[in-house]
Amino acid sequence: PLGEQSDVVLKEMYTFTDRNEDELTLRPEYTTPMIRAAISNGLLNNLPAKFFGTGQMFRRERPQKGRYRQFNQINFENFGSDDSFADVEIINLASQLLKKILPKKSISLNINTLGNRENLQDYKKILSKYFKDNQNSLSSESVSKIDSNPLRILDSKNIQDKEIVLKCPKLIELISKKDLNSYEEIKVCLKDLDITIFEDLNLVRGLDYYCHTVFEFKSNEIGSQDTLIGGGRYNGLINKLGGKDIPGIGWAAGIERLMLLMNDSPTTPEDIHLAIQDPTLKKHAIKIHDYLIKNNLSVYWNYKYNIKKSLSLASEKKAKFIVIIGEEENIENNYILKNLYNGEQKIVKFEEILDYIK
Ligand code: AMP
Repeated sequence: PLGEQSDVVLKEMYTFTDRNEDELTLRPEYTTPMIRAAISNGLLNNLPAKFFGTGQMFRRERPQKGRYRQFNQINFENFGSDDSFADVEIINLASQLLKKILPKKSISLNINTLGNRENLQDYKKILSKYFKDNQNSLSSESVSKIDSNPLRILDSKNIQDKEIVLKCPKLIELISKKDLNSYEEIKVCLKDLDITIFEDLNLVRGLDYYCHTVFEFKSNEIGSQDTLIGGGRYNGLINKLGGKDIPGIGWAAGIERLMLLMNDSPTTPEDIHLAIQDPTLKKHAIKIHDYLIKNNLSVYWNYKYNIKKSLSLASEKKAKFIVIIGEEENIENNYILKNLYNGEQKIVKFEEILDYIK
């Protein structure tokens, strides 16, 4: 169902025979396994049924930044609804997730509609003809896809190809009024939810099972592997896999790609550092550590006993406070609390540390 001519099936699957001579393939994507799981566990009785999953995928691609042979995805699927609002809901979910975990990043949402399966079949024929007529101007890689998978030529990165693609017939011209109206409704609702969209008439996605709405969330900060989340409708797929004839829509996010952007954000410093004067004070330090983490504060302690070094480490790590446990102060159950932003220093009792920090 991924499509015999899709890149994943043609070049990227890890398929091998195990000791029992069974043929195995490592999971390259998550939508079809989720559908199989839903079918075989009888989870498609109350529709729409909404699921999420997370796990490792394997594709034999050329590794580079953001593209690995073993990677993790988190995916969300909505089985059983053709309503435009199922599209809006699931795209909004992706948008909310990205806003929450990458609040400072500019991420764009590209969207397109592929129409129904027939539209797509007809379009492939029209495209093949168009590219055949222009094959002298195409790269050899694209020429090899003219008959087998002309849709893939649309997202070729080759400059010459791009020029030909720019003038190619558009799929939107084949789509029925009814389908275009629901696509329009989806776009309007997304805008109402403050989601900025870029319509990309050449967005087709790599797997054959997509139809109607397709979308990708992209960042321009992580190089050529810039798609963070990709998804779309796959009406017909559940039926093809042996389930009811019900529609579906979903998306998958690449966790490593999200992490590339998250690592880019300034790291949250451990807010509070601990420093002790000599090893006998370690038991006091662990008590303070325990007390502060129980109160949801992040605490860093390196178990060493060199106040000067601990102070310079704390300022290097941009900590907010340092609690200093010295011999003399400790006799009185006192600690030195230093505010590293303004340099203020106070002597506080154990019970007062939290209040002062807050
Ligand atoms: P796809 O299943 O191809 O639609 O991919 C969905 C998401 O998974 C992409 O947007 C990427 O974030 C991530 N992804 C896909 N392939 C890889 C890979 N080889 N390495 C890392 N992440 C990937």
